[in-house]
Amino acid sequence: MADCIFCQIAAKEMAADLVYEDEQLMAFPDINPQAPVHLLIIPKRHIESLADIQVDHGGLLASILLTAKALAKKYDLTDGYRVVANTGNAGGQTVPHLHFHLLGGRDLGWPPG
Ligand code: AMP
Ligand code: ZN
Repeated sequence: MADCIFCQIAAKEMAADLVYEDEQLMAFPDINPQAPVHLLIIPKRHIESLADIQVDHGGLLASILLTAKALAKKYDLTDGYRVVANTGNAGGQTVPHLHFHLLGGRDLGWPPG
């Protein structure tokens, strides 16, 4: 989608400091980090949110979670971390292109605000 910032990052029309990339996915630091490690993992194809996920997205979702696990290891988050997909307005989603936050490096409170 032309006006979607994460599609623009996926198309390399907008810069991001990629920490991971494969055929389906990209990961890069959040521009407004909420923890010492705060990465975003996105599918390159436009899917608006988790609310739009279908059964045939299963492989993609597994790849995203395995990438989160690998990045948590790479960034030495041995004490734990959080993977979050804010979904829709009440879920706090501000960018309507599916993304998973990987947060770590500090004690994360629960429940979130
Ligand atoms: P959410 O609010 O869950 O939709 O998350 C969107 C996240 O994208 C926010 O944490 C923003 O700080 C982050 N963000 C927005 N634009 C960019 C960008 N160009 N590069 C990296 N992160 C971004
Ligand atoms: Zn998009």
